[in-house]
Amino acid sequence: MESSGATKLQDSSLQNPVDQGSNAALNRPRRRTQTSGELQSQPTNLRVARPQVLEAKHVVKAYRKNNHEVPVLRGCDFEAASGQMTAILGQSGSGKSTLLHLLGTLDVPDSGEISYAGQRIDNLSRRERDKFRNAQLGMIFQFYHLLPELTALQNVLIPLLIREGVLSYFGRRKEIRGQAVELLERVGLGHRIHHKPREMSGGEMQRAAIARALISEPELLLADEPTGNLDRENGDSILRLLRELNSESDLTIVMVTHDESIAQRCDAIVHLEDGRVVEQTRC
Ligand code: ADP
Ligand code: MG
Repeated sequence: MESSGATKLQDSSLQNPVDQGSNAALNRPRRRTQTSGELQSQPTNLRVARPQVLEAKHVVKAYRKNNHEVPVLRGCDFEAASGQMTAILGQSGSGKSTLLHLLGTLDVPDSGEISYAGQRIDNLSRRERDKFRNAQLGMIFQFYHLLPELTALQNVLIPLLIREGVLSYFGRRKEIRGQAVELLERVGLGHRIHHKPREMSGGEMQRAAIARALISEPELLLADEPTGNLDRENGDSILRLLRELNSESDLTIVMVTHDESIAQRCDAIVHLEDGRVVEQTRC
């Protein structure tokens, strides 16, 4: 039975309730999702198959404001390989966040296609989108988007409370809490689990947001300027953490940044200029 408490907690910027819909293709694929493969060069010069897991084709998006159309994405092609860190690099206003939101099904394109693991995700029903996000996706943002009245631990538990529903959650509370504490320790926040966001530094808040994004064990992490509000030292340590998480569990990461030196630390860079991808490079 789905509890009404879980429904009330729905927030598309967090996670959404799992429903048992019929679209089996949207169930969580295993690590290293097999899609149409593509050979790409590796630093060792070995040629190994790296399937593209997330793809956008000819994506167009405009916002409408006061009967006025603001074109943002003007035929954008994008791909990110499974298990890699891909940067979307561009100046402010170039459409990076818009593209990331479309990739994360938080918004829909006017035209074009977006697919994940070979399945279209741009034309899903609301229910299927919620399910996709809940099963496959974690998101982090420049300003963390933590709930201010909750502790780090409670913030991390929210996606599981939503996913499990209140009754099941309370039945498995001890186990679930143990998982959340373990994850907070993994991201270096074991000493701050009972702190509220205002009692944490920016770097600590981003670590809590990363733990919240990963508690549902997603395959794909979308990050919008995750170090944009941090000083260099804290930004560096968040980047190192993301790289560790990427290597440890084959987590695919797509990260938006306006900073070329940050993009250079990823495996691939998608250069966005005025709503178009002008270049894709490998680092
Ligand atoms: P970036 O993340 O690269 O800085 P965005 O994707 O946020 O760029 O925005 C691209 C352009 O779209 C900007 O010019 C911005 O002002 C405009 N824009 C973004 N969101 C909206 C919106 N909801 N309504 C109208 N215009 C928007
Ligand atoms: Mg942005």
